[in-house]
This record gives sequence, structure tokens and C-alpha cells, in this order.
Amino acid sequence: MPRSAGENAGMQTIDAAMLWTPSGWRGDAGFDIDAGRVRAQDRAQPTGSGHWIVPGLPNLHSHAFQRAMAGLAEHQTNPEDSFWTWRETMYRFAARFDPDTLHAVAAQLYAEMLEAGYTTVCEFHYLHHAPDGRPYADPAAMSRALISAARDTGIRLTLLPVLYMSGGFDGRALSERQQRFGHGIDDYLRLLDTLRRDEHDGLRIGCALHSLRAVPAEAMREVLAALPGDSPVHIHIAEQIGEVQDCISIRGAPPVEWLLANAEVDARWTLVHATHLTDEEVQGIANSGATVAICPTTEANLGDGLFPLRAYLDAGGAWGIGSDSQISVSPIEELRWLEYGQRLATRHRNIAVLPGTASVGETLLRGTLASGANATGHAIGSLADKQCADWIVLDSDAPQFAGVTAHDAVDRWIFSGNRNLVRDVHVAGTQVVAEGRHRDRDAIARRYRAAIETLSG
Ligand SMILES: [Zn+2]
Repeated sequence: MPRSAGENAGMQTIDAAMLWTPSGWRGDAGFDIDAGRVRAQDRAQPTGSGHWIVPGLPNLHSHAFQRAMAGLAEHQTNPEDSFWTWRETMYRFAARFDPDTLHAVAAQLYAEMLEAGYTTVCEFHYLHHAPDGRPYADPAAMSRALISAARDTGIRLTLLPVLYMSGGFDGRALSERQQRFGHGIDDYLRLLDTLRRDEHDGLRIGCALHSLRAVPAEAMREVLAALPGDSPVHIHIAEQIGEVQDCISIRGAPPVEWLLANAEVDARWTLVHATHLTDEEVQGIANSGATVAICPTTEANLGDGLFPLRAYLDAGGAWGIGSDSQISVSPIEELRWLEYGQRLATRHRNIAVLPGTASVGETLLRGTLASGANATGHAIGSLADKQCADWIVLDSDAPQFAGVTAHDAVDRWIFSGNRNLVRDVHVAGTQVVAEGRHRDRDAIARRYRAAIETLSG
């Protein structure tokens, strides 16, 4: 399995009937690839290949282990069920993982992501230690399980080890179930240093602050000051009304306002679940250049609330999507629900459009792809010269594409049903999905079933 696929592939030319570029579809285009990168994109040679090619999609927010509990928290235990009661279920479940089961579950998830068209994933990783909170013999064992699952499946990874220090804004200690998430600052920075030594073209190491409630202000400053200048920084920011209220009462401002005033938030930052925002915060994020990671299916599943998409687009903000709790592993479903939530709330249609693009699908695809480079730290999001050679071939033979034109192709892809229209997927020039199937789908699923047995035993 190539570490960084394409290393020995030599120069190849990929031809497309239609190629998606930042300015829209381009007919009879092609690109050269070499050593996992695009080398030029200036060809125009009609080949009749019939392929509609789109750059691979970035998934900005994932907790891999939660793939194994998808569908297991949908029984009402209490009429007041909420994010906080879900979190108790999630903690009980998280306590069962070890590096082997995490590897098996992550491999299943990453193969599913690739089949769905995600070619890069940001893994927001906090299951660091053994369940009792003691570090494993190799303190990076759980991180390495995720890295090897990504390498085995071929997905591009931005691993974001999470700093998790306190159980609330008041600085209370971690609860028993949170012990395995915790680090002191020195241990945390040492973990980042260790992992950074293994970085390569397919692996970036970034930094995640779990949330303002889990990271004291002084610790945040210290960690940020120690990071390399180009490190991606991710944080859960304003998912729940309860945490917004706690932040106001203890730090004197809602989370985004506090963060913007207390950190140099810029394009390296990704704010996950910036759900509850004032108008000033909407504009503040947009001005900072940070990316918002919206996870519409998880935010709906957890009853979080609705991101103010229209106001944020008007403010010129950058955004992308994440699969988060893995109750859906489909970029199409995320994008569709991003738009549908707005339609339900406003009783209007076709909300997510920007000047110059009337197509909702194209606006959504552009936003998603444009978020990739800053949020992941990889050169992704387009198939221009020097970019990562990550691409999707759409199934132009599918009935949903009958009579397709450049005018409607993206809208059909996103808004025409549930058949997966991703036919082939390449990462770093290497094919990992053919005819809708990951190259190791069956073996990965067998190991996943065995892991589920262990987890439920
Ligand atoms: Zn999350």
C-alpha cells in the first residue's frame, strides 16, 4: 500500500468530458498527474470518455469511533432527551475502545467516506488513553490506529489530536468517563511533536481545542503560542445554548465573541458547530477568514439548532461540511440538509446562492471545495497545477443524469435521490473506489463486524 499513493505511478494524463473547476464546468478538459499531484491543467482534447470529474470532497469534522454507535441512541429515555443525554450514551460507548477496535471501526468509516466522495478527512480525535485515563505504553497508540486506518483505506488525513483539560467553564476536573480524553499541556505538545515526525503528503497533524469549556484560557494561549505557524486549529465553538450561556456568565461573552477577542483567529482556524451566533459574531467569523464546519445531519440528530447560513453567506464567510457523529456518511445528505434546514425555517426555496450563481447545488459544491485547503492543511479543492490529485468520477450513466447538461449536473447530483452517483474515486492519483466499491470493502467490513462483536461483548 503506497504511503503517499502515486509515488511510483509516473506521469499520467486524465481526460474528462467535463471537469469541475472553481469557475464551473469545463468541457473536454484533462490534467496530468505525477507523484500524486496535478502537474498541469491546460489540455483540451476531446476524448469522448464521457467522464464527469469533480475534485474530491473534504470532510472537515469526524469522530471515527462514533461510526459504531450510529443508530444506537434513537430510543427516548426521557422526554427531555438532548445533546447532554446523548453524550452520556456516547461516553459509555467510548469507554470500550482500544487501538485495535478503533482501527477496525475507522477503516470501515473511511472506506465508506471514500465511496461517498470524501477524499480527505479531518479527524477530531480525543480517545487518547486507556479507559482509566492511563496513557498506553505508546502514548500515541490511538492516534496511530487512526493514521493506519487512513493509510490502509487510502483516504487523505488531517489528524487533530484534541486538547481536553476540564469538565466545564468553571474549570472543574474531568469526570471519570472523560479521563481518557485528558492531557496536561506538556504531554499534549509532546504528542503533537511525536506525530508530526510521521507527516507526509497524505498526512497532516493539526491541533484541536475540544471547546472553550474544556480548555482554560491560559492553556489555550500557551498551546497556540507553541504551534507551528501553518498548523490548522479546530475547535467546537457554540453547539449548545447551555454552553453559550455558561460562557457568557463565566467569561463575559458568548463563545465566538470571546474567541475572536482572545485569540488571533485567522484562516488557519476551523470553528465547528458555530450554531448559535449573534449578528456581530457572524460578521466577525467571516472577517477573520476562519472556516465554519457545519455538520447538518449530526446537528439535526442532536437537536443542536440551525446555522444562520443566509446571513453568513451575505457576510462572505467560508464554510465546509463534516460528518461528525457519522449518523450519515454522505456529503450529498449534508449539503441537501444544509439547504433544506433553511427552507424549512424560512418557508422559501433556493436559499444558498451567491451573486453570479443561481444554482444552489453549485453554490454548495463551491463552498465545500473552497473550504478544503485552509481547514485541512492539504493542497486540495481543485485540480489545478500542483494540487493533490484527488478526484471523483460521477456515474454519468445513472438515470438521474439522463439528459444532463453543465447547467444542471451539480443540482442533479445533490438533489435527485439517494442512489450514490460517485462511481470512481482516486486519491493522490491512486484509484481506491471502482464502480462504487472500495478496493478492500469486504475485508474491511469483516474486520469491522469482528470489532463490533468485541465492543458489544
Ligand atoms: Zn464534534
